[in-house]
Amino acid sequence: YDLKNEDLRDIHELGQGNGGSVKKVEHVPTGTIMAKKIVLIDAKPSVRKQILRELQIMHDCNSKYIISFYGAFISDPNICICMECMDKGSLDGIYKKIGPIDIDVVGKVALAVLEGLTYLYDVHRIIHRDIKPSNILFNSKGQIKICDFGVSGELINSIADTFVGTSTYMSPERIQGAQYTVKSDVWSLGISLIELALGRFPFADSASDDSDLSDFEGTLSPSRLGPLSTAVHRAPKSREEKDKADKKKKRKSKGVSLQGGGMTMSILELLQHIVNEPAPRLTPEDRFPAEAEDFVDSCLRKDPDMRATPKDLLKHSWVEQAKVSNLDLEAWASTF
Ligand code: ADP
Ligand code: MG
Repeated sequence: YDLKNEDLRDIHELGQGNGGSVKKVEHVPTGTIMAKKIVLIDAKPSVRKQILRELQIMHDCNSKYIISFYGAFISDPNICICMECMDKGSLDGIYKKIGPIDIDVVGKVALAVLEGLTYLYDVHRIIHRDIKPSNILFNSKGQIKICDFGVSGELINSIADTFVGTSTYMSPERIQGAQYTVKSDVWSLGISLIELALGRFPFADSASDDSDLSDFEGTLSPSRLGPLSTAVHRAPKSREEKDKADKKKKRKSKGVSLQGGGMTMSILELLQHIVNEPAPRLTPEDRFPAEAEDFVDSCLRKDPDMRATPKDLLKHSWVEQAKVSNLDLEAWASTF
């Protein structure tokens, strides 16, 4: 495809994220339906061109667990990325519509994401960096695919300069400033799977209500997060230090409280919670198979050295079950 904006006819909007919006479009000369992602990039033309060059790697990403890429182009001041359109949308939209997702379907999601991550890393040395339910897509053929992976270093830099991005699926080591590794993606997968199985974001304060914290992403500017995130780097050791830090945190978090649906929580409280508290689990115990609980526990080891890689996890008994299960995802897709 030689893509240009005038050949694309808007059909409707598919959704909006931190970096821009995604529209369902028709490539008129060929009649191909595509999803067009528009990313506003506040960068020099040379940087934009560099991003475009880096995005071309996506042409070589061929896996049934990865969204196909049709092409990208510059439409000042935006970069447009055209990809396969998944007609059932993302898994966050699906659970918000139909409620908690059956654990056997969640097993198939785990399998697809692990296959996708393993392909990206083994073949292209790409780390995804943004695993979350809105980047796991589903279609009426029953296929599950991942999108929005970090192919372009320049794009990652440009977006990080403008947006805080998703902090809530971030692993403890990433919050504390460590480099991204495939194991950071495994943590994000664990959080995402609990979210799908429970039908709510696992860190949301259950005492308050069922608010979904991820709805509040992107409402903070980096200048606000900057000094706050450094406060998370040094976890307090003694009780006394902790109390002192809590007081300091309360002062600091003033003005960055995130409010909605009757819940108030600062992004700092959430980040500190991820770093300092035990990882969430797939509970209550009697509701889910023990293999599923064990799988999620393996994803959510707080120490990345103890955490499994996507390749290890493909051998986990719960995933082995998902491989041989005769669950019909195409039939499931037709129920909503
Ligand atoms: P985010 O992933 O943070 O929600 P995005 O801008 O990446 O933000 O995407 C916005 C929404 O558009 C997603 O939540 C998803 O529901 C929808 N979307 C993105 N890509 C596609 C696609 N290829 N096919 C169908 N829907 C998509
Ligand atoms: Mg996305």
